[in-house]
Amino acid sequence: MEPPASKMARGNERPTLGCPCSFSSSLRIENVTRFSVAMSGEANSALVDHLLRDDRQEDLCFATWKPSSGFDRYSALVEQLIPPRTGERHVHGNASFEPDYLLRAAEHAGKTGRGLVFGHSHPGGSGWQALNSIDRAAEARIARLSSEVTGLPLLGLALAGDRRWSARIWTGRGRAIAPVECESVRVIGDVLSVTFNDGIYRSMKSLQHSSERFIHGGANTQATISRLRVAVAGVGSVGMAIVDLLARTGVQSLGVFDFDSVELINLDRLRGAGLLDAYLMRPKVLVARRLLDEGSTARYPRHEVHELSVCEPEGLSRLLDYDLIISCVDRPWPRHVLNTIAYADLIPVVEGGLIAFQKPDGSLRNAYWRSTIVRPGRPCLACLGQYDSALVQVERDGCLDDPSYIANLPDDSPVRRRENVAAISAAVAAALLQQFVSYVAQPSGVGDPGPLRFNCRDHTVERDTTVCVHGCPYQGSVGCGDARLDPSSRHHAAERARRHRAAMPLMTRTARRVDDELVRTRRLLARTIRQGRQS
Ligand SMILES: [Zn+2]
Ligand SMILES: [Zn+2]
Repeated sequence: MEPPASKMARGNERPTLGCPCSFSSSLRIENVTRFSVAMSGEANSALVDHLLRDDRQEDLCFATWKPSSGFDRYSALVEQLIPPRTGERHVHGNASFEPDYLLRAAEHAGKTGRGLVFGHSHPGGSGWQALNSIDRAAEARIARLSSEVTGLPLLGLALAGDRRWSARIWTGRGRAIAPVECESVRVIGDVLSVTFNDGIYRSMKSLQHSSERFIHGGANTQATISRLRVAVAGVGSVGMAIVDLLARTGVQSLGVFDFDSVELINLDRLRGAGLLDAYLMRPKVLVARRLLDEGSTARYPRHEVHELSVCEPEGLSRLLDYDLIISCVDRPWPRHVLNTIAYADLIPVVEGGLIAFQKPDGSLRNAYWRSTIVRPGRPCLACLGQYDSALVQVERDGCLDDPSYIANLPDDSPVRRRENVAAISAAVAAALLQQFVSYVAQPSGVGDPGPLRFNCRDHTVERDTTVCVHGCPYQGSVGCGDARLDPSSRHHAAERARRHRAAMPLMTRTARRVDDELVRTRRLLARTIRQGRQS
């Protein structure tokens, strides 16, 4: 790209338009160190079609973005291409633009409370593009004006000829303005396409003891799977199995969310949990932690477990740090939270569930399990009938944890059902992992297969052709990020569970410490033997 030096002088005159929310936005971002970019398949197609020309010359464009603020990570959600009007940009091997184009785009972004994107192409390049000195100078000029007009930092995007993106966010103001490299650019389309910044991510080779790679799609697929930040919401029978298998697959950043403790009634179906865990009131996420520590094949594992519900403000905020979520929750409120951020924050959610039907004599009539990827372009969970929106507020009010309320519900209410047979849970886990692998590894270019329904009695798989109802609010919120209606609030059941554990008797606390020490000793022993063999 050519720096429009002389033309930019005019563009540096300070425009009068400012965004009223600019102060808080720019303040918050200064404390963030991790940045990422996400866009829908539709936004990606519009940008790629414009930037990658048939004549293989470079091109440029402006677009808008909206912020999505996680706990540690700030994501820029790329929204809408602002195509140049005739004469506003010039293509001559490389590309340049008239200041009017920049001003028009920045004013449009500022007026609508959005940030400005400046994108250009490197048709001869491949993979993540380092910022060269020419691009740096040009983007710095745009960034100064853009942050004044929009109150949000400029997002600089470069597109290589292999359709891989690279990105940086220009933080600071005036002379102190500087680019911060993003860690990844995620495109949430029919396939999940992520370009990782190799300068930030180390090469994530699996441990040598994993003799065979899980996906035989080659090193690229393994590298994507291992670097993807995957959250598992809910570690019951399905979630715990998925955590174990993803850790063994080599995913290096798994986040596990659950507020519950192991109980005796869970033991028939909870992988990795034993009698002692129930007696010691161990949080389910700490059983997951043990599975992660024992089974992870990633060379640099950075797994995190959270004794939180995804419905709590901190749970939601931490969830926004992930690239993909596997939903193993069955209540309406957490499903509503995940449904919300799948569209608003462009974080695809792999979701599923099980319904069993009994005959009057109590024997099994049939069972169905579903799997789907919730994302723009696919039906949402509410329209698929995976939860009843009316029950979300009922759950927020705490009624679903009130035995008298539950007792008054009809027998076939989804809230009363608890179909958690361990053997069928494994089938549900497999269905979710199949969706995950297909979406990420995209066998022969086919990614998301759409919602599927497995029929236990007939041994068939059916495609669910449901589409969202006209005016579905989730589809209307794609990419709105922090402007979403907040689905989180205090979660009384989660708070109660944590309080209950904090008040556990001294005997239990001491026994837990002894048990933890035994586990640590086993791990230390394994590490010592491994080091001995390597030397
Ligand atoms: Zn360039
Ligand atoms: Zn819908």
